[in-house]
Amino acid sequence: MLNRNINRRHFIKSFLMASGAIALTSRIAIRSAHALENVSVLVVGAGIAGLGAAHMLRQHGASVTVLEAKPHIGGRLLTDWSMGAPFEVGAGWIHGPSSDNPTKQLADAVGAKYVVTDDENATYFDLDGYEYDDDEVERIVDAWEAVLDHIDNNYEANDPRSLVQAIKDYRPAYLSDPAIMWAFSAYTEFSKGGAIEKLSAPLFNWDSAFDGADVVVTTGYDEILKPLADRIDIKLSLNVTSINYEDDDQIVVQTDKGTFEADYCICTVPLGVLKANKIKFQPGLPSDYKASIKKLGFGSVTKLALKFEEPFWDIETQYFGMTTEPKGRWNYWLNYRTFSDENILLGLSVGDYALEADRMSDQEMVEDALDVLRNVWEDDVEEPIEVLTTHWATDPFTLGAYSFPMPGSSMSDFDDLGDPIDDRLILAGEHTIFDYAGTTHGAYMTGLRAAEFIIDEES
Ligand SMILES: Cc1cc2nc3c(=O)[nH]c(=O)nc-3n(C[C@H](O)[C@H](O)[C@H](O)COP(=O)(O)OP(=O)(O)OC[C@H]3O[C@@H](n4cnc5c(N)ncnc54)[C@H](O)[C@@H]3O)c2cc1C
Repeated sequence: MLNRNINRRHFIKSFLMASGAIALTSRIAIRSAHALENVSVLVVGAGIAGLGAAHMLRQHGASVTVLEAKPHIGGRLLTDWSMGAPFEVGAGWIHGPSSDNPTKQLADAVGAKYVVTDDENATYFDLDGYEYDDDEVERIVDAWEAVLDHIDNNYEANDPRSLVQAIKDYRPAYLSDPAIMWAFSAYTEFSKGGAIEKLSAPLFNWDSAFDGADVVVTTGYDEILKPLADRIDIKLSLNVTSINYEDDDQIVVQTDKGTFEADYCICTVPLGVLKANKIKFQPGLPSDYKASIKKLGFGSVTKLALKFEEPFWDIETQYFGMTTEPKGRWNYWLNYRTFSDENILLGLSVGDYALEADRMSDQEMVEDALDVLRNVWEDDVEEPIEVLTTHWATDPFTLGAYSFPMPGSSMSDFDDLGDPIDDRLILAGEHTIFDYAGTTHGAYMTGLRAAEFIIDEES
């Protein structure tokens, strides 16, 4: 998700929230390491939210077991080094890497190395594969910004219109302008993980951001999880099928490999898993939780890394924006040569096209993406020598990429999902925090928030 620094507005509340996060960790840190000695907690999911919660609870003496369906930790934070440079399967950037960003703090703690990605260092191409001149780029960005400003200035938070409806009401001609649609897709659909037809017009841009230009972690993003996972009892390849919180004292979690019991359960499975009712809650989740799960959106973002023998593109240019039809089809490319020695282009499909791309075979995906590249570089584009793909929408333990506000949803649909249920069961994960939904730092903060609830209960 690049360009977040462009399209995520900075509100006062982001600073309040950020200082709150720091206060949270330091306040908790001074409490006794034995405070939770007789407390047991089951954490479902070993992504950054689950590991963050587990780490904090263990520091306070709780007995913690993490139950993870996949054979590895990380969830949507996972680095694949098979191409010789880090291919980030899920999260790729630290958005707003200021010193108060909790993800940046984790990355600094493991000595991570960063490269600032420069949104301005980009070349954009039209539908026929010809480069846009500067005036056209300015027109596109101005139009996109004008819509955002119009919504900011005229829409109440509860306005039920979608972003596409808002564009239609303001400047209908934009909807048939492929260049302007490119900006809404490559910037907004990518940033929010959902099609503009499905995004809430007033809310999609109301979230918060930390300061600073986005960075990629050249030493591998998932390194930040190692200290969190250290000395935690993590059971991998174990699928949670039900969570029973009927009993006032014990939570019973059923898995495909046996039953676990504890005083508390923090469930961090992605929104897609909750939407698909993959886990049976006993009793069922309260009706307002169920309604919020339904109201929030969960789309996809598809990544494809193509490694070539030789570069056929300008190796100094960081991004290539391709106007494509349908919108969302491999419309943004990151050039690895700007931060590594590998001849890799990382393509992105977003919006509803990502849902289609996720369902393609790898070969179909590669052909589809090469078609887009050949529209610009024609016969210079040779067959790739290595390929990596993602299919988040069909991954059974994620079923999408990240959450977004749909028309008719509210900020509290995110935040209230994180409220403890019967003081025993807590949902956490990126979908439970409106301000920082769809980010690693947001997910991590919800893990800390869930742990903090248990620490407070037991203190
Ligand atoms: C393609 C993509 C690009 C992204 N780009 C960025 C970015 O650039 N910057 C950024 O900050 N964020 C980005 N994000 C978002 C970020 O990755 C997530 O917000 C964050 O990693 C979510 O963490 P989590 O702990 O909430 O969930 P997850 O990491 O998904 O963890 C949940 C865990 O639950 C497990 N699970 C699911 N079902 C079960 C079950 N039944 N039993 C046991 N375990 C189960 C899953 O396997 C998973 O490991 C991106 C995400 C994607 C998919």
